[in-house]
Amino acid sequence: MLRNAFTPCSMAQDTIFHKIVRREIPADIVYEDDAVLVFRDIHPKAPLHLLFIAKHDEDFVSSIDDLTENTAHVPGLLIQAAQRFAKEHGIKGYQLRFHVGKDGGQEVFYLHLHFLSNQKLTEEQ
Ligand code: AMP
Repeated sequence: MLRNAFTPCSMAQDTIFHKIVRREIPADIVYEDDAVLVFRDIHPKAPLHLLFIAKHDEDFVSSIDDLTENTAHVPGLLIQAAQRFAKEHGIKGYQLRFHVGKDGGQEVFYLHLHFLSNQKLTEEQ
C-alpha cells in the first residue's frame, strides 16, 4: 500500500493544541509536568472544564481512532494525570471524556481528555 505523503508530524497536523504546547498562542495552563499539559477549555461546559494533552512529539496522536501500538499508552497517561490532579486538588467527582472523530463531536485532532467537574479549584472559590 502506498503511504500518504504526510507523516503524523507534518504541518497538515499542526493543530491549535500544538501551538499551545509551543507557547505560540496563550492558554490558561493549570498544570504541567514533563509529559502532560493541562489547560482550561476556552468554552467550559462545567464549572471546571480542563483539557489534558500529551506534550511530546512521540506521544502525538490525532484521535482515539488513530491509536497505534506506539501510542496506545497515551490515553492511560492522560487518565492517570487526571486522577492525580483530582486527588491533589481534592476533587471528589468528575467526568472524563474523549470525543472520537467528527461524528463523535471531535473538533481538534490532537488527542485530548476532557475533565469536567462541578467542583471548582480551591483558588477559584
Ligand atoms: P473536542 O470537541 O473534543 O475536539 O474538544 C475541543 C475543545 O477544545 C473544545 O471544548 C473547545 O472549546 C476547546 N478549545 C478550542 N480552542 C481552544 C483554545 N485555544 N484554548 C482552550 N480550549 C480550546
